Amino acid sequence: MVLSQEPTTTVVTRSRYNYQLSEIIRQRAWVEIDQSALAHNVRQLRAFLSPDTELMAVVKADAYGHGAIKVAQTALQYGASRLAIATLGEGIELREAGIIAPIVVLGAVNNPEEIAALCHWKLQPTICTFQQAITFSKTLAELEQTLSVHLKLDTGMSRLGTLWHQATEFVTLVHQLPYLKIASIYSHLATADELEPTVMKMQQQRFKDAIEKIKAMGISIPCLHLANSAAVLSDRSLHYDLVRVGLAMYGLYPAPHLKSTIDLKPVLQVKAKITQVKTIAAGTGVSYGYQYITQRETKIAVVSIGYADGVPRNLSNRLKVLLRGQYVPQIGAITMDQIMLDVTNLPDVEVGDIVTLIGKDGENSISADDWAKTLGTISWEILCSFKHRLPRISTGEC
Ligand SMILES: *Cc1c(COP(=O)(O)O)cnc(C)c1O
Repeated sequence: MVLSQEPTTTVVTRSRYNYQLSEIIRQRAWVEIDQSALAHNVRQLRAFLSPDTELMAVVKADAYGHGAIKVAQTALQYGASRLAIATLGEGIELREAGIIAPIVVLGAVNNPEEIAALCHWKLQPTICTFQQAITFSKTLAELEQTLSVHLKLDTGMSRLGTLWHQATEFVTLVHQLPYLKIASIYSHLATADELEPTVMKMQQQRFKDAIEKIKAMGISIPCLHLANSAAVLSDRSLHYDLVRVGLAMYGLYPAPHLKSTIDLKPVLQVKAKITQVKTIAAGTGVSYGYQYITQRETKIAVVSIGYADGVPRNLSNRLKVLLRGQYVPQIGAITMDQIMLDVTNLPDVEVGDIVTLIGKDGENSISADDWAKTLGTISWEILCSFKHRLPRISTGEC
């Protein structure tokens, strides 16, 4: 979508009015992406890693809602050397934008049409099973194409991958297949964000054992990787040749106990405008279902953002926003396109004022972690929940 990538200086002409596109997309509600904060986080991560550990920027799910193309470009500029996405379509989007860095598809790709697309777009798949390896080899033979592939071991996540105790057979098979070139072997950790390291250590031991056996067979593997953001920050022995970082790059810590490791700055902010202000009497119901009844005469502000933009309806009556640098309570049910605030204590509030739902306003801030805590979920899900209806606007261009 053009709006999400080029909010800069394009002028749109509509009848006799001329608008800066950047002003139009700041009309209702939007997401601001601070590219300088992103660059800062990537530099911090790069400095934290040893020089021979590669940084792979995980930009799946439209870079956790931040806009994959721009994030990929900034990450590559400031120290990432590879990219990871989850789906074929996400990889194609990056290639079509002219990105030439190696791109790994973390999700499963199984059928011949998809394999042909991988070749065409020079995307590197993850191979998770014996059967998948054989399908790839057959299809690649027909296409007369060679692909660099990444082999996934399941060391305890019980998601994608061949079980660690079958690693030698799996790697031996792929090693023998023509048209497949092993670019790396990797696994994924289930509990890296927890204080208690027992499961993580068990997974690492399984990974180590598998790799040692593979090496003992005389098969050399160019790259090993195991760490996500939490593992990067919690234990250097998990870094290996490459780390796959998502969340930390976006400026959030995977767990509170990891906050002392490196300095991260949140990249995403969510903002919306006030569209109406009015005073309603004591005892008046607000929004669908009258979940909120005013206790006193109340000045309310209507804000043009709702659950269709990704503000979870479950936050109704529990959401706080920032307005003129102060915390203000949201009242009543969150609706599809709009929310109401109690602004009785802010006499000067007017239509057009900007409300910060996630981000910083003056001294105060609200983070995706705050929402996650209230909702009983994780910040990863909050970041991914903002819809395409919200234009992404880059700030802090660097
Ligand atoms: C999403 C993902 C990551 C990144 O995880 P973060 O916790 O966001 O750093 C790394 N590896 C795999 C396999 C993933 O699916």
